[in-house]
Amino acid sequence: MAIRHKKTIYLDHAATTYADPRVIKAMRPFWEKNFGNPSSLYHKGVEAKKAIGEARSKIARLLAARPEEIVFTAGGTESVNMAIFGTARNALYSGGKKAVHIVTTKIEHHAVSHSCEALEKEGVSTTYLNVDRQGFISLTDLERAIKPETLLVSVMYANNEIGTIEPITQIGRLLKKINSSRLARGLEKVIFHTDACQAGGVCDLNVERLGVDLMTINGSKIYGPKQTGFLYIRQGTKINPLIYGGGQERGLRSGTENVPGMVGLSVALELAQKNRNKENKRLIVLRDKLIDSLLLKIPEATLNGPDERGKNYEANMLRLPNNVNISIPGVEGEALLLYLDSEGICVSTGSACNSSNFNPSHVLMAIGKTLLEARGTIRITLGKKTNKKDLDFAFKTILQKINKLKVSSKQYTFNTK
Ligand SMILES: *Cc1c(COP(=O)(O)O)cnc(C)c1O
Repeated sequence: MAIRHKKTIYLDHAATTYADPRVIKAMRPFWEKNFGNPSSLYHKGVEAKKAIGEARSKIARLLAARPEEIVFTAGGTESVNMAIFGTARNALYSGGKKAVHIVTTKIEHHAVSHSCEALEKEGVSTTYLNVDRQGFISLTDLERAIKPETLLVSVMYANNEIGTIEPITQIGRLLKKINSSRLARGLEKVIFHTDACQAGGVCDLNVERLGVDLMTINGSKIYGPKQTGFLYIRQGTKINPLIYGGGQERGLRSGTENVPGMVGLSVALELAQKNRNKENKRLIVLRDKLIDSLLLKIPEATLNGPDERGKNYEANMLRLPNNVNISIPGVEGEALLLYLDSEGICVSTGSACNSSNFNPSHVLMAIGKTLLEARGTIRITLGKKTNKKDLDFAFKTILQKINKLKVSSKQYTFNTK
């Protein structure tokens, strides 16, 4: 029987999160009672429009931005596409630029890297910055990569696979310095975008402190609704819409608004930002305990991403508090995932695998992992319902399944000879 009676232990919060009940409660009236189209002039429309205005203001306050700098979208992918295509196409077709250059990294989410690749077909050139073994870009490399025709720098705030938190504030400062000398030379300023989808519930989002011009946030990673998100667009940033139509969102994102989604996203972000310091502390204790145990009991295992165990993380957080990513050479990550699933435990791997080919994660390749290591990689990401008891069970189960997998792979080797 395929029916599972086991409790689910969800350890894949970097993939997506359940919605917070308070988020759902805030959204409900906008599907039912207050369902009006915000563009309508009668009271039902006015109610909906007011709710959008409040959601926008709430988000703007959390970012120290202005409400008109927040454009709601249908998620992280759309916001990233808007940031990249929107600025590049403005420069190419509205700004009449001949050459457009983008600087990004080798460890971005595919929303960023595939957008850049698509733009290369429209004549844009791209530099993909290397990262070190922990996943950090180098500011020196970044500075060297900037050319007169550089339009945009896009560096993710925190990596979804290995948890590395990039030095966004330092990048912002560096670009400010570069931009002031560019202005003196009659060059246009370099626009700075950060994909902050993994950082919304963890990091500071103050756009002034960060020095960003564009910032992507989504709801599905912060206990909000899926297919919700926004792009922060600093006033004066030249950007074209991706979606044309009725002119909603000040002409930047047409289509009847997802009022419940906007409301839900604003509540989710408010809760996430309000609780982040306390929750970060709680998760770091759980995370580091799990890392300690795994590395102790599996001697061949290595941790991917920054190791900040025992360090004063509050001074300078280097790794997402909920992220554990380890490689165990000789273990098939996908098989381990399925074994764990049979016990109700949800984790993720470092590859997309099918019977005929094996696609190691571009992030693991960028930090110098071998194919064997990438193949044996699992990502465990904790969340607000994760407790010590669940992690103890997950840890024991992982050990048990790894031993089983090692034995069966040995038998397999033996049998095929
Ligand atoms: C999840 C994620 C995205 C994509 O967001 P969607 O809301 O799924 O479209 C983009 N970047 C990062 C870093 C992510 O983690």
